[in-house]
Amino acid sequence: MPELPPAAQPSHPPDTRLVVAGERVQPSAADCFRVTDPWTGGLLAEVPDCGAPDVDRAVAAARLAFESASWAGLSTGQRADLLSAFAARVAARAPELAMLDSRQMGMPLALAEASIQGAAAALSAQADQARAGLDVRLSSAGTALAVAAARPLGVVAAITAWNFPVPIALGRIGAVLLAGNSLVLKPSEIAPLGCLRLGDLAAEAGIPSGVLNIVPGRGTTAGAALASHGDVDALAFTGSTATGRLLMQAAGASNLKRLHLECGGKSPQILFDDLGDAKGLAGAVVAGFTHNSGQLCTAGSRILIHETLFDRLLPLIAERVAALSTGNPMAPEQLLGPLASRAHTATVERLVGQALPGDRCVAEGQTSGRSACEFAPRLFVGEDPASPLVQQELFGPVAIATRFRDPDDAIRLANATPYGLSATLWSRDMAALMPLAHRLKAGFVIASDSVSPADPGVSALPGEPAGQSGFGVEGGLQGVAAFTRLQGVLFQSKGTLQ
Ligand code: NDP
Repeated sequence: MPELPPAAQPSHPPDTRLVVAGERVQPSAADCFRVTDPWTGGLLAEVPDCGAPDVDRAVAAARLAFESASWAGLSTGQRADLLSAFAARVAARAPELAMLDSRQMGMPLALAEASIQGAAAALSAQADQARAGLDVRLSSAGTALAVAAARPLGVVAAITAWNFPVPIALGRIGAVLLAGNSLVLKPSEIAPLGCLRLGDLAAEAGIPSGVLNIVPGRGTTAGAALASHGDVDALAFTGSTATGRLLMQAAGASNLKRLHLECGGKSPQILFDDLGDAKGLAGAVVAGFTHNSGQLCTAGSRILIHETLFDRLLPLIAERVAALSTGNPMAPEQLLGPLASRAHTATVERLVGQALPGDRCVAEGQTSGRSACEFAPRLFVGEDPASPLVQQELFGPVAIATRFRDPDDAIRLANATPYGLSATLWSRDMAALMPLAHRLKAGFVIASDSVSPADPGVSALPGEPAGQSGFGVEGGLQGVAAFTRLQGVLFQSKGTLQ
């Protein structure tokens, strides 16, 4: 296997202990799982596979913190100050955290660092938005005052995915904690090491003990124990729709805990006929489904192109795909690393193998051939909306292009999967896009006449998945409110209780 540049080697073994009540603690049993580097195949760490006793400890610490009001009793502004301090520490440590994420799941190092910096900035922005609080004064007529008070839910558990390990965890920590809850986080078994470090950084930032607890473990051990725990008030999940279904069953069979599910997607990129030879468009479309090797919940893996544009644009997109190459994620300028694990690579290969005879592969990128987890980006063309390439999330750098006749046809095709996570519309005619956005089954819609990256303020964009992509608002002030419950409170003073 290839050597990594010397600077990329971690200087000391990562701390794999769990975070409970603000401290690193040993697990109660010796069960472990292995975290490996998908590029080299080498062992990075053996990490405790926390079972029910450790989950109980973490939930008890979170409950104690919640009941003590050390966090829930602070004003939203005070919580925002502490979470901003936490975000600043995360940003300062981004190189170290990025190294951990990148080595565990193969994302290019530069992308890992940029995404952690972006998530830290988004957390600060969300904290600023939340400073004013979430309560709403409804009326103050005469001697009465009615308030819709946003109360925290209590102890929230978060189970997260591996594709952006630290950024996804940061998103959950921000929204759940700003709302005044305590949290028990279970990161993915593929990439728990950077997420565990977040517990240390939260303690350094002054977040009170027990407010953020982190238990590494498999889904079937730590994850299942959290999902069926009787003292967890809400469960926030990021992962596949298949696991989301299991969690709904566990929540119903235990204490009817509230659920927040951010699941899979099969998102369309829709290209309208007024685009002509828009410069940079093909590159932006390809980036839309190959970013992070397509391991992106919002990957635009269905490319719907107006029939008058199709024959001109498709070769440009195909050319871009053919020019892509996977390689060493530690190499500067490398855009695509390996996929996250051998098992995931096998899954992507199996799903691509389910293409229908009518689905034609028109472009394939390169691999360096140096890692068993490399997967060459691919572009298919197909007209059958029932094809597995159209209907199933692959979570790899694969897209299928289809032509459409008119806007109604585009909307029909865009909405014809079980998912509803996001959609991208490209056109120079913004006015024509506006009425189409609300017809899309999608939690996030990006309508654009530009291939430049979105402004940083977009990180505060709230949205809620549709269909089998889940439910629960993500992002912005509404994403914080999603982890509160409204308590209607009426104060009335008529002085008759003498
Ligand atoms: P999985 O559903 O396999 O796993 C997600 C998390 O759930 C992991 O921590 C996993 O544990 C845990 N888990 C697995 N089984 C159980 C169980 N029976 N009980 C409790 N927890 C369980 O998804 P992936 O990690 O493979 O992530 C990829 C998926 O995530 C894709 O579908 C992607 O679209 C989706 N995703 C959605 C996002 C969104 O915002 N909508 C964002 C990012 C990803 P472990 O892996 O440790 O065993």
